[in-house]
Amino acid sequence: MNKLRSSSAGIYLHFPFCESKCPYCDFYSTLIDDNVSTKFMDAVIAESNKEADSDFGSFIYDTIYFGGGTPSLMNPDEINRLLENLQANFNIEKNAEITIECNPSFLTEKKMKGYLKSGINRISLGVQSFNEANLKTLGRLHTPDEAVKTYRIMRDSGFKNVSIDLIYGIPHQTIAEWESDLKTAIELGPDHISAYNLVIESGTEFGRLYSQNRLNLPSDEEQLQMYDSLNEHLNNAGYRGYEISNFSLPGFECLHNLKYWTGKPYLGFGPSAVSFDGKVRRKNRADIESYLKSAEKNIEVPSETEIIDRESALRESIMSGLRLTAGVSLERLKDRFDYDLREDKRNTIDSLLTEGMITIEDGFLKLADKALFISDSVMVKLI
Ligand code: SF4
Repeated sequence: MNKLRSSSAGIYLHFPFCESKCPYCDFYSTLIDDNVSTKFMDAVIAESNKEADSDFGSFIYDTIYFGGGTPSLMNPDEINRLLENLQANFNIEKNAEITIECNPSFLTEKKMKGYLKSGINRISLGVQSFNEANLKTLGRLHTPDEAVKTYRIMRDSGFKNVSIDLIYGIPHQTIAEWESDLKTAIELGPDHISAYNLVIESGTEFGRLYSQNRLNLPSDEEQLQMYDSLNEHLNNAGYRGYEISNFSLPGFECLHNLKYWTGKPYLGFGPSAVSFDGKVRRKNRADIESYLKSAEKNIEVPSETEIIDRESALRESIMSGLRLTAGVSLERLKDRFDYDLREDKRNTIDSLLTEGMITIEDGFLKLADKALFISDSVMVKLI
């Protein structure tokens, strides 16, 4: 094993199979096929065995994240096998945060208990909406009742850290429907809520309908109102936003996702998974066929690499820092990049301060509440 580095890192596993394709989704996935998914497990283990001998073998890992796709299609034995392999190959901290994304279909108490036993200690439940019609619009296979039932099964099985994913800005969705979703989520009492404003991605079914003007989205004003009521409802219920779309009870922030937003290293397995060692970002080709072939032939997984030079790292630090409620540390930018943001963007910063779009407090530059919903347009002025 390589010499250990002091920096902690995360492991991401992309399970690229789903039961159907949701019309808004641009994550890489194909329809589930048991033969292919069994071969996929072997291929992940082959990739993990190879990476153990690379520089990634020297990190200490304190988060593991099973994402996808629909990783809850994996049974606990398969998860167990993967986790045992990771533990054999890498330095995984004893109390590592281990998350699995789950869809609220086909989840039994037996399966959940199996996940818990395998070492998974955090669930991210893809509810998206508690409204039947909106779930249908999103192409989801579960009903609102199934989502609630699954949430209860997770709690009854012993999970102490559960997050719920919600989406707003769904075609035809009303503000009242969104507020009802928020109320139901709060009543259930998850430890963490991710609430995403629907983004129309090109290459998806929604992208196609949008380009034909056939997607009846809530207006910009309505979406802004939805964002405001999201913050109001969750803050009143004791959740604190720590990132533009992420809210948690104190101490339940997602440690894995924080690694992406704070520039920490991570190692990704599976097609389309991304790895970052602090200098180079590598993205595995989003193609299950070539992924399986690389394991069969014992060759490298096809990927694209990008060297993150000083300029890119600086830009990314500013962008991701602004997404965090804590903001960007001006001192840290100086230490890490020898860069004075306040000085370099003096005029822009002064006018954003005057417009009330940003604040500077205790050496942190942050987006003001009113800029959060239009964060992209403010961020580009600062990079
Ligand atoms: S949203 Fe989730 S379940 Fe739907 S296609 Fe994408 S990865 Fe699969």
